[in-house]
Amino acid sequence: MYKLRSERISQQLFWSMILIIFSLLLLSVPLIVSSYKTYQKADRALSEISALRGVADLANKISRERAPANKVMSSRADELAANLKELHEYRQEVDLQIEQTLHILKTKSFSTQDNILFNNLKKSLQQGRQAVDAYAALPLSQRNSEQFDYAIQHMFKVWDSCYEILKNELVQSDGKGTAVSEYYTLILILSDLRDQAGRMASNVIAPVTFKEKISEDNLARSLQTQHQVNYLWALVNTIQPEQDKTPEYLALHRQVKTQFLDQGIPTVAGLIDESLHNQPYTLTGTQLTEVMVDKFVTVVNLQSYILDYSLYVAQKEKQESYHIFILTLLVALICLITAFFTMIYARNGVFKPLIDARNSILQLAQYKVTDSDYKNSSADPVTLLDAIQKLKGVLQQRDAFEFQLRNIANTDTLTGVSNRLALDEYIKYVDRKPEKFTQIGLIIFDIDDFKQVNDTFGHIIGDEVIRLVAEKLQFNVRTSDLIVRYGGDEFLVLIEQVHFHDALVIANKMLNEIGASELYIAEINQNIKISVSAGVAVGAVSWMALLEKADKSLFKAKARGKNAVDG
Ligand code: GH3
Ligand code: MG
Repeated sequence: MYKLRSERISQQLFWSMILIIFSLLLLSVPLIVSSYKTYQKADRALSEISALRGVADLANKISRERAPANKVMSSRADELAANLKELHEYRQEVDLQIEQTLHILKTKSFSTQDNILFNNLKKSLQQGRQAVDAYAALPLSQRNSEQFDYAIQHMFKVWDSCYEILKNELVQSDGKGTAVSEYYTLILILSDLRDQAGRMASNVIAPVTFKEKISEDNLARSLQTQHQVNYLWALVNTIQPEQDKTPEYLALHRQVKTQFLDQGIPTVAGLIDESLHNQPYTLTGTQLTEVMVDKFVTVVNLQSYILDYSLYVAQKEKQESYHIFILTLLVALICLITAFFTMIYARNGVFKPLIDARNSILQLAQYKVTDSDYKNSSADPVTLLDAIQKLKGVLQQRDAFEFQLRNIANTDTLTGVSNRLALDEYIKYVDRKPEKFTQIGLIIFDIDDFKQVNDTFGHIIGDEVIRLVAEKLQFNVRTSDLIVRYGGDEFLVLIEQVHFHDALVIANKMLNEIGASELYIAEINQNIKISVSAGVAVGAVSWMALLEKADKSLFKAKARGKNAVDG
């Protein structure tokens, strides 16, 4: 069906609105989604860091279990009971940590891989502990350094399986690309560093306990570990981003250097040196364990700091990304709502009234807005401009008509000169001028003995006489002067910018003209002789004063015997 032009405009507007809202959605939705994804990523990075922290703590505890285990295995008979108690207490702590870490990982996401790795850990821990317990249960006479070393190496394996969990956590990590991802490697390295540092001593503790020469194999392992420690240490400082080397980090870093590297490594190196030179060891196995345990604390402290710091960074990133997400959402919503309401406003407040106005104009211009009007004129529909053009013509006609009406209203119907309505307007007009009536000349003409004319010839002839007098007056004034029929046989002539003398001359001229000529009255086919009297006044403070002055003059002229001018 053919649509009305207004309806088409309205429909086009509707589709434009849909297009704008759709474009806005197209722009804002990806922004919202991407900021939400960033937030989710930051959230995951935070839970990963928490999980990582649990596993790193567990790895450190497992590494640390070697200390009480070594102490038990290298104990003298009198120390054994106390050291066993310490070991059992520590084992409980480790078991608790395993359960806690499992719990943390399970709340995050727990893969089958995690499950396998944890089972491996538990199994190797059991085996390691059995090896330690088996060794500790042997009578002192039956013990030897190989058996001791065997138990130690089993404990190494426990840490290795825990390290697998740590590595797996990093491999599975979703937080890559977030601000915290660079700490992951650092946490891994520091865990490794802490364990390798422990192994340095553990690798020589068996021969030291048995006061034997360190075997080639043990020596190689210890040196390799020492090398590994130095290598990992160099990595730590390289990986830590420069901007994150806070004073706290630097202090902890220095402590590792001064206490662990500068004191711990030389302690083990000293024992190796003593072995190489066949000298007696300056430390027993238990003493070596105690001395070294203190040194690792610094590595653990540095690792804890890195974990805390990365947790703080992750929290900050999560918070920031959350704020950005909310902000993006709000801005997009505000844009959409504003666009939506602007459109509704534009439709209802601007375009609809315009369309209605257009329809009204078309109707006013008599282009009726109906289907049928447009059906046949689709090729050349009536435009608003056509309608306005037509209305303009109508208005012009109306103006001309109004002008005619005004003229009729202002004109005396009998004579065609102005009437009192026109005089009132003229008075108002002059009153608005600054000079007002000071330069206006007024002549009042009154037909002499007019009653008699009426009485003699009747009113119709009387009217004719009035008309002929008006004609004579009109003939003798300029177009700028105003002639008013003021009353029955009374006329006013108003002349602007006139001197009194000139006004008198004009009045006399008119008086003579009317008086000299005989008026031919066609109806009775005869000439009637009539005369007028005139009163002249020029300039007064007001119209009433001017009128009064001229009226007095007229009175005087009449009193003088009529057919006369006075001023
Ligand atoms: P004067 O010389 O003192 O002016 O005497 P007059 O007879 O002219 O007296 P006046 O001016 O007072 O008379 C005016 C007369 O004009 C009175 C009235 O009957 C007559 N008249 C007024 N209007 C008309 C009109 O429209 N047509 C006719 N035929 N007579 C009118
Ligand atoms: Mg008269």
